[in-house]
Amino acid sequence: MTRYDVKDWDVAVDAIRSAKSVALACHVNPDGDAMGSLLGMSLALQTLGKPTYPTWGSPRVAAPPSLIFMPGADTLVQPAEVPEVDLFLALDCGAAHRLGEVEKMALEHPRSINIDHHPGNDNFGTLNVVVDFASSTAEIVAFLLKDVGVEFNHDIATCLYTGVVTDTGRFQYGNSSPETLRLAADLLSYGVQAPKIALEVFESAPFSYLKLLGRVLERATLFEAERFVYSWITRADLDDTGVGADETDLLIDAVRATRDADVAAIFKEQKDGHYRVSLRSKGSVSVGDIARVHGGGGHELAAGYTAVDVESAVGAILKFLRSE
Ligand code: AMP
Ligand code: MN
Ligand code: MN
Repeated sequence: MTRYDVKDWDVAVDAIRSAKSVALACHVNPDGDAMGSLLGMSLALQTLGKPTYPTWGSPRVAAPPSLIFMPGADTLVQPAEVPEVDLFLALDCGAAHRLGEVEKMALEHPRSINIDHHPGNDNFGTLNVVVDFASSTAEIVAFLLKDVGVEFNHDIATCLYTGVVTDTGRFQYGNSSPETLRLAADLLSYGVQAPKIALEVFESAPFSYLKLLGRVLERATLFEAERFVYSWITRADLDDTGVGADETDLLIDAVRATRDADVAAIFKEQKDGHYRVSLRSKGSVSVGDIARVHGGGGHELAAGYTAVDVESAVGAILKFLRSE
């Protein structure tokens, strides 16, 4: 029985079951779902005796501080260390370019499975398991693994639960279906320490993060008519406070927490001077559409792209909102 009505589901299950060795990659700058689905799948395949090579396409692969606790984080390999394998799995990548430096490896592989939940996924795998209503890629991985016949254990369940709890915003967003919560309940039965995961992921920032958050909130700017709020951080903010770029994922959640805005954005200056834009919507606007117009992507309610500067990006977002 397949959980989802996906054309390639059964072939993908067979391909995973019969693979002798597997390389896996999630998107660059991994979040909890990217790393949770990556390591959950990797640990599960290891229990079947398959050598696995979990990675992502950054020059130096290292778990971000809030996700170091994840089982299997110590098994990550650098992209250059991935040997010839007979199956390549891409996880949580809405488009091939999200694979960064391993994009070519994935696209040239004779057997790759693109496992993802982003609407508008460009089906870059030789097999594609794309379920855009799934809460998370971890949820899809869980159901795939059940069909492959893997016995879950504490470590696998911890990875998958982390993916689900992060992409649903702790089960608060509309992507939390009854099926999602039933899966979470099932995962808890393997001894997953939900409070510990919550602590690690959501409340383990260094004290200096509070100072950075202070700057972000101080600068927050509201466009009342457009119901749009935004703020930004520069490289200097990171240098001054000592917060790492990989510890800034939760800033957007503070910016969006006003009833006076439906759309929230945070702009994060990158090393090259460009800005990574994180967009969130409370439902009336598809921020995925805004991101795609600008060469990025994402979901209806959470999306991202890269902009040249804050001022023109804010102008473009306002123009989009006014045209809605
Ligand atoms: P973030 O704001 O980084 O948490 O990203 C929110 C959502 O948008 C996630 O589903 C990401 O996968 C997606 N996303 C973020 N940045 C990009 C990008 N440059 N291209 C495509 N999708 C993106
Ligand atoms: Mn993700
Ligand atoms: Mn995801």
